[in-house]
Amino acid sequence: MSNPAPTKHEFQAEVKQVLDIVIHSLYTDREIFVRELVSNAADALEKMRHTQLTENDVFDASKPLEINITTDETAGTLTISDTGIGMTRDELVENLGTIAHSGSKAFAAALKNAGKGGEAQLIGQFGVGFYSAFMVAAEVKVYTHSWRNEGEHLCWVSDGAGSYTIDEAPGQSRGSRIVIELKEDAKEFAKTSRLREILSRYSNFVSFPILLNGDRVNTVEALWLKSKEDISEEQYEEFYKFASHSFDKPTYRLHFQSEVPLSINALLFLPSENMELLGMGQMEPGVALYCKKVLIDPHPHKLLPEWMRFVRGVIDSEDLPLNISRESMQDSALVRKLGDVVAKRLLKFLDKESLEDAEKYRAFYQKFSRFLKEGVATDFDNRNAVAKLLRFQSSLTEGDEAISLPDYVGRMKEGQETIYYQVAPSRSSIESGPYVEGFKARGIEVLYLYEAIDEYVVSSLREFDGKQLQAVNSDQVDIGEDATDGEALSESDATALCEWMKEKLSSEVASVRVGKRLVSSPALALTPMGEMTPQMRQMLRAMNKDEVDAVKVILEINPRHEIVRKLAAQRETNPEAAQLIASQVLDNALLSAGLLDDPQRMVARTQEIMQALLSKL
Ligand code: ADP
Ligand code: MG
Repeated sequence: MSNPAPTKHEFQAEVKQVLDIVIHSLYTDREIFVRELVSNAADALEKMRHTQLTENDVFDASKPLEINITTDETAGTLTISDTGIGMTRDELVENLGTIAHSGSKAFAAALKNAGKGGEAQLIGQFGVGFYSAFMVAAEVKVYTHSWRNEGEHLCWVSDGAGSYTIDEAPGQSRGSRIVIELKEDAKEFAKTSRLREILSRYSNFVSFPILLNGDRVNTVEALWLKSKEDISEEQYEEFYKFASHSFDKPTYRLHFQSEVPLSINALLFLPSENMELLGMGQMEPGVALYCKKVLIDPHPHKLLPEWMRFVRGVIDSEDLPLNISRESMQDSALVRKLGDVVAKRLLKFLDKESLEDAEKYRAFYQKFSRFLKEGVATDFDNRNAVAKLLRFQSSLTEGDEAISLPDYVGRMKEGQETIYYQVAPSRSSIESGPYVEGFKARGIEVLYLYEAIDEYVVSSLREFDGKQLQAVNSDQVDIGEDATDGEALSESDATALCEWMKEKLSSEVASVRVGKRLVSSPALALTPMGEMTPQMRQMLRAMNKDEVDAVKVILEINPRHEIVRKLAAQRETNPEAAQLIASQVLDNALLSAGLLDDPQRMVARTQEIMQALLSKL
């Protein structure tokens, strides 16, 4: 058999970009590359442990699962080897040549958003995974053999400058051996003492033996099983960073043990950075499931509710059968119970924290409210507890102050039975519209919801604390008698005007009625189907064409408004002008309601109105 020549490969463009920054940016915290490589070795070993449970045909089956680190001060090299799953040729290309499977994905995503100059700072906030080796390496070699018997003996080599080669390298044992030829200014990492110091911080969180130049450096330690008094802040933080591959500091930490109704040891962290906001796509659940210190599943989907996927940490329960598999845990009632207990505990904890330190909670909320809103919409069991954690601005808040639903309910007016809200993009778009003025005049608070997803949140929630939630632009709103005085149309004049307007505007208007919630606007538009959103209405329109009452609006007019009163007076004596004004009143109302599909049509009419006005000057 002839030995094929080494093959040369270009790094994917995004990888080149990442490498360029990794290599050329001054960076003070270079030692994190050790953590990255040790965590990769631990991941590969963990995968191996799992593979061994199901596969009989394994290369080097008798090798113990461990990590060996050796330093050579004379040669200026550092070697990190593991007996994990190793890589095939294709896997080398895919895993070390592209960003698709790499911890640097978040970094690459953030890079896209970061302006020039901001790039170097990103390294401290995100992991660059395997590529971090190039902060200290003049050259990196990865020797490997896959756990698969048919795998090749390979060596991957690169100086990080744009390409790498893959060559055959006979004699490899199972796993990966990463040899780093250190740069001139990074020779410190070939010193045993320096490595020992770096490893001391997190090696105990690795559940496989780590040997440094032959000496064991770690005792496998399950931090979550220790009592709180014996754990320092630094240890917690290191654990968070190591166990969840994170670079930020956790905002909140919840560490608890309980015996009833289940034996639980849980150590949970809420991060300070939301990776999904960076356009990273949906993240994997981050709370691992253990049974008596043995990892069952690093990313269990059916443990905590899906929306809690941003939570990191560990749940360990002695009550789980040790031989539970990832597959069977998916539908285990015990696992569900376990997740349920922990989720409720976490929600209670967050509620307490949010009240004790509102500022801190606000910073957290800014980044993570999306998850909470998803929780209200999808987590039926915990809906109310999650809803308590939401924060909104309102007609009574100032600046960026925001209140909770319990706050709102606590200051409802006497006799008020309903929680009112409006969904619109901003405070100004709500306050310049006609809907809240009647509420303001009566001193009734209205919540301002600025995100499109809020529509979904309120329609899932429906009520809070026994109080119905209602949009101020719903046709069901009843806020009692008129709150303002001043000259108004008589009842019969008003009725006649309504009938006339209904006739003139019949293609768009289902009915016209006198409204009680208007103060300074002449009219407002309501959709007859309660809280139908403009989007839903547009869909209906598209399906039914026009002429369907469901898509027509209810027009409420203000009998005290001067335009309305004059319109009533002029409709018989001056029918043409009255028609123009009536149409414009409708379009203004539709515009405020976000229901005007074709604003163009106003142009011709406003010109006519201007001409009429000018001819009177
Ligand atoms: P991440 O660990 O977040 O996936 P990395 O950049 O650290 O990202 O690693 C990229 C990929 O390279 C890993 O997902 C893994 O498939 C592969 N890899 C890295 N180191 C090893 C190793 N020691 N053994 C086997 N595969 C490895
Ligand atoms: Mg990694």
